[in-house]
Amino acid sequence: MRIVELTDESKNNILENLLKRSPNSYGKFESAVAEILLNIKTRGDEALFEYTKNFDKADINADNIVVTEAEIEEAYSLVDPELIDVIRKAIVNIRSFHEKQKQYSWFDSKPDGTILGQKVTALARVGVYVPGGKAAYPSSVLMNVLPAKVAGVDQIIMCTPPDKEGKVYPTTLVAAKEAGVDVIYKAGGAQAVAAMAYGTKSIPKVDKICGPGNIYVALAKKAVFGYVSIDSVAGPSEILVIADETANPRYVAADLLSQAEHDEMASAILVTTSEDLAHKVSAEVDKFVAELSRKEIIQKSLDNYGYILVAKDIDEAVDVANEIASEHMEIVTKNPFDVMTKVKNAGAIFLGEYSSEPLGDYFAGPNHVLPTNGTAKFFSPLSVDDFIKKSSIISYSRNALEAIHTDIEKFATAEHLTAHANSIKVRFEN
Ligand code: NAD
Repeated sequence: MRIVELTDESKNNILENLLKRSPNSYGKFESAVAEILLNIKTRGDEALFEYTKNFDKADINADNIVVTEAEIEEAYSLVDPELIDVIRKAIVNIRSFHEKQKQYSWFDSKPDGTILGQKVTALARVGVYVPGGKAAYPSSVLMNVLPAKVAGVDQIIMCTPPDKEGKVYPTTLVAAKEAGVDVIYKAGGAQAVAAMAYGTKSIPKVDKICGPGNIYVALAKKAVFGYVSIDSVAGPSEILVIADETANPRYVAADLLSQAEHDEMASAILVTTSEDLAHKVSAEVDKFVAELSRKEIIQKSLDNYGYILVAKDIDEAVDVANEIASEHMEIVTKNPFDVMTKVKNAGAIFLGEYSSEPLGDYFAGPNHVLPTNGTAKFFSPLSVDDFIKKSSIISYSRNALEAIHTDIEKFATAEHLTAHANSIKVRFEN
């Protein structure tokens, strides 16, 4: 793995290179996605079934698009019972973490009869996209569905592409059933996103679409934003490890590779204050890569976006980490909590050598849907907040309004909105 001395120039080159991974740089797919969206909007199910035939090679129609109870039962018979137990344990942790995020309505009253407040309402219907092209992602099902459940969403539907026999990954179905999905549709790609955004005869329109997917899914979500809400436009996975001379190089190398294996666009970066650690981690990475099953993907991802940066001190290491604003950050230093207090931008922060990133992917409880591509500067992890909305509550008594009615009339008149002023004035005509 390449080792680079941290300077202004190397930092700027790396930041520029990392930005190439943004889904916003994939304009060439946009016209294909726009055509799919338009077709679904105008021709509904007919176009949906055609795309499923073209892209997934499956014969799906109005009679078999919904996954049946029998198919879910079959899925349970195909999944390792020990994995089902693990899924159930993960659900307990994810639920209890998200329960703490719940927000409640509140009302404040004053002696003059004024009541102000905020009413919290869960979204009515949410659509979760679960990728199905190249691999199964039961953990994505849990991380997207459970916060919506905790928020109190009335109906949660799920879309996932079928294989050419019209089947869905059994682990995806088991995770969906365990998490409490209401209806599962066999539909994938941009066409599934469009169906959930606009509604077709088979798939109902939702209020919000969440969940990861390939570039077609990501660009489709971006394009339907406004018709519906979306979680985010997810880019490729990222890890940034801040480590000093006390870190175990083998652990650090293993953790970097855990993200590099996602895909060739994933990024794995170590920022260390120790040149000795830099060389040791690089050597450990080489040893691991030779043994791991996804070695080709890992090697490409490291060649494209893997770096070991040597910083002069921990403050410089934290500064560059804040600029990169990584999806996942690990801090493996003498005093990780002290370093954490200086971190401003990161999706999830893992502290100490026993908090390796995959713990957060599957099990600890916090959500694994995190801001990527530097968006941790302004976005947060997926949470219960994503599945609620707030309405402001305003109730004045006659006395309370009388005390300030001329103030409002003055403001409205200054904006030349005489009807506004009048709607207050009529109440005090006599
Ligand atoms: P997918 O379900 O996202 O995509 C499959 C669909 O893509 C197909 O159903 C088809 O409709 C569509 N498609 C394929 N080729 C097309 C073409 N030429 N034109 C138009 N549409 C086409 O599954 P995938 O492809 O395996 O991708 C999953 C992605 O999700 C991966 O990039 C993976 O890394 C990512 N992922 C991210 C997270 C996360 O948390 N960030 C989690 C899981 C998966």
